[in-house]
Amino acid sequence: MKEEQMVLTVLGCRGSMAMAGKDYQVYGGATSCYMIQADGETLFLDAGSGLIGAPVQLPRPPVILLSHLHLDHLLGLGMYPRLTQKGLETNILVPVREGEQAKDLLNTVYSPPYWPLSLESYAGNVSIQPLALPMRVGGMLVEGREGFHPGGCMMLKISFRGKTLVYMTDYEFGHIPDSELLSFLQNADLLMVDGQYSPEIYPFRKGFGHSTDEEGIRLMELCGARQLLVVHHDPQSTDRELARREKALNNGAVRYARDGMVIRI
Ligand SMILES: [Zn+2]
Ligand SMILES: [Zn+2]
Repeated sequence: MKEEQMVLTVLGCRGSMAMAGKDYQVYGGATSCYMIQADGETLFLDAGSGLIGAPVQLPRPPVILLSHLHLDHLLGLGMYPRLTQKGLETNILVPVREGEQAKDLLNTVYSPPYWPLSLESYAGNVSIQPLALPMRVGGMLVEGREGFHPGGCMMLKISFRGKTLVYMTDYEFGHIPDSELLSFLQNADLLMVDGQYSPEIYPFRKGFGHSTDEEGIRLMELCGARQLLVVHHDPQSTDRELARREKALNNGAVRYARDGMVIRI
């Protein structure tokens, strides 16, 4: 199947920790994982527990791009069934700093005593490489910029046939966006922003590296984005709470991400 547009599927949009139970049925409890398909290619943004439900058979070897290495963004790698299938290739790209090795960074978590074996020893053909931007995945152009988050987190911009999506997870606003940031975000067709906290809770979580939907909407207006998708929901935010906040916005261009949501860009 060759897609003429980018098709985004939300596989996991919970922040910080996977959740389960009756209060997490609508928005979902799986942690960050977003699948983008275009032109026969598949790109995953982050590999949280949502990755476990991703398709195994894909037209081309997928690229899994990690925004940063906090555990909620890596949880799904160890249980993604594709990695256990002989002959199937999967490419994992890891943001590294000077002197760091991509494989060592992932092996810190994926090795005993924390996990029984390294990802490269799975039966599939797993490649772990440093993330180098800009890069192309088929017809998609991927660009990045460092965000504001404890330990860092890459903002990722994906462009395809004149349309753009910006993934801005794990990002604390609290400052006036500079012109460089605004030009990076300019006229995005879809802006995915970290709205982990309600404005009432945020003052008690300042410095934790996350934001509110209000800040996302302000940014959306400043950069002229067409649609906003609020992601990285707090583990404490139940379906009821998220529905209340989403409804209160009363803004057709702003939605809260939920598992299984599909957006064509
Ligand atoms: Zn996170
Ligand atoms: Zn984080």
